[in-house]
Amino acid sequence: MKITIFGTGYVGLVTGTCLADVGHDVMCMDVDADKIARLEAGEIPIYEPGLEEMVKANVAEGRLRFTTDPAAAVDFGVLQFIAVGTPPDEDGSADLQYVLAVAETIGRHMTEEKVVVDKSTVPVGTADRVKAAVAGALAERGAAIDFEVCSNPEFLKEGAAIEDFTHGARIIVGTESERVKTLMRECYAPYIRLHDKLMFMDVRAAELTKYAANAMLATKISFMNEIANLAERLGADVEQVRRGIGSDPRIGYQFIYPGCGYGGSCFPKDVQALARTAGEVDYEAELLGAVEAVNRRQKQTLFAKLSRAFDGDLAGRTIALWGLAFKPNTDDMRDAPSRTLMEALWAAGARVQAYDPEAMDECRRLYGEREDLALVEDRVQAVEGADALVICTEWKAFRSVDFAWLKSRLTLPVVVDGRNLFEPETARAAGLLYYAVGRGDSL
Ligand code: NAD
Repeated sequence: MKITIFGTGYVGLVTGTCLADVGHDVMCMDVDADKIARLEAGEIPIYEPGLEEMVKANVAEGRLRFTTDPAAAVDFGVLQFIAVGTPPDEDGSADLQYVLAVAETIGRHMTEEKVVVDKSTVPVGTADRVKAAVAGALAERGAAIDFEVCSNPEFLKEGAAIEDFTHGARIIVGTESERVKTLMRECYAPYIRLHDKLMFMDVRAAELTKYAANAMLATKISFMNEIANLAERLGADVEQVRRGIGSDPRIGYQFIYPGCGYGGSCFPKDVQALARTAGEVDYEAELLGAVEAVNRRQKQTLFAKLSRAFDGDLAGRTIALWGLAFKPNTDDMRDAPSRTLMEALWAAGARVQAYDPEAMDECRRLYGEREDLALVEDRVQAVEGADALVICTEWKAFRSVDFAWLKSRLTLPVVVDGRNLFEPETARAAGLLYYAVGRGDSL
């Protein structure tokens, strides 16, 4: 099957590569010429485990190609996937300019019937706007060519994107058209051999399903952070509470880890966008507002704990950070808790000495050269000469540490663990001033 993907970010590149890997003929288009040049040179612009090998293999086999040429891209595939960004607008709603720009491109260049597949996360009703944008561009040319628009939201997680795309729990397609159903079944046939996980539904239901899923997951995190903050003040250990409630199959263990707040490119913007959509239909989504407010506060707790440990005076201090990415196995720092912390530390006159296994280039790109930021080679160098350590991301490489060694490196042996990686008693027995999230300490 010939397939075109617009956008070669986390979703577009993974989608295109995985579809090529199961035998489809794929063309990926991006307006970012630099990104396409790098991809053509075999360089992968994002960090995603396993992706580089897969891209190279499929390019070599001739099933995956890259372009900046819109006409060639539209001409190529019978399915035209839109996988461009939908960042938050100033008011929190999803900014659809990139999605609609692709729709116009398709309308401007198509010469035969196409199916437009919306994979970007977009508010309910966007398929109608995409349809209008394609139709508008066609009308401008005086062309009358049939096309259809369906919704196919993506549920992959960065860091496990290939596994999620190929073995995801479900493939959702919003359409009423039998022809689209047939084509989408053909596209995803290689993934539904084990069991049929293709779920067809109304376009609006498909669009809402994506937001509902992310809002539910964000709710679980904020709920658990709320309990952690309570536990902290009540002298209870939230990790024991987590195990206690997770054992109930109605609750389950997944996604109830307390921490320093959720970040990334999806949860913050999708919760906001859904709340915004609610507002547009005169419904006040109170729970969504609370989920977001709790998260915003949670991202400030690392700084608050640190500040209390230093009696409110962090000026001139050097703070080590382990982890910059919003979660392990990605280089993505969008809305990461590490950024809230670093920016607060700089405002308080402190210096940051940071290490992340993958996100160093991204951090350099975001903040450039600055005197109060040193990006170092490894976690050992990060704590060298530092006054305190903060753990922002639960990378595997940070999960085991010699506490006696750590104490000997830090001038004031303060450790703020935003991911609850260690047992407080063990860390404290080694002489560290150890503070976690919701583990009975009052700091
Ligand atoms: P991204 O920012 O990594 O990539 C978007 C790409 O689209 C960029 O390379 C950009 O240059 C390109 N682009 C912009 N305008 C274009 C145009 N007119 N034609 C062609 N390319 C264009 O974004 P992402 O993280 O891949 O997210 C894409 C969408 O998928 C968003 O709606 C997001 O919410 C959703 N989503 C993301 C994830 C995730 O984990 N990142 C997971 C599920 C869904």
